[in-house]
Amino acid sequence: MDRIPTMCALRKRNINVGDGLCVFCGEVEETTNHLFTACRLITGVWFAIASWCNIAPFFFFSIKDIVKVIEYMPASDAKKEAVYGVLILTCWRLWKARNDKVFSDIDTEVVKIVSDIKSLGYLWFKSRYKKGSIDWKGWYNFNFNLM
Ligand SMILES: [Zn+2]
Repeated sequence: MDRIPTMCALRKRNINVGDGLCVFCGEVEETTNHLFTACRLITGVWFAIASWCNIAPFFFFSIKDIVKVIEYMPASDAKKEAVYGVLILTCWRLWKARNDKVFSDIDTEVVKIVSDIKSLGYLWFKSRYKKGSIDWKGWYNFNFNLM
């Protein structure tokens, strides 16, 4: 719904955001679509996530494309639910990385973001999906054949 307070959204609300450029690349205005789909750092994260989930690389053109990924994915319900959760978690972690940079000047790396997503995702999935069980090794390899 484009309500997340990116630099572009804040500018539209008459808030002074300086140059309003993306904090990761510094090349273009920080919009929702740029921040979650197009920025170089972010595309690296999405590539790593797709690789980890053993699915084809993502090609997002807008943030709306992110939630549509599982619609046409040939996979078990458990894997679809896990991938959907990972996608949402990735968005949250990307926003956190952005806020860490904006408010605390903390730099981040693709490896750190992906590592956090794997760890947090495991805790989330274990608490949510109780029909089967998946251990850390299965989750780390995103191997749902174990379930
Ligand atoms: Zn950028």
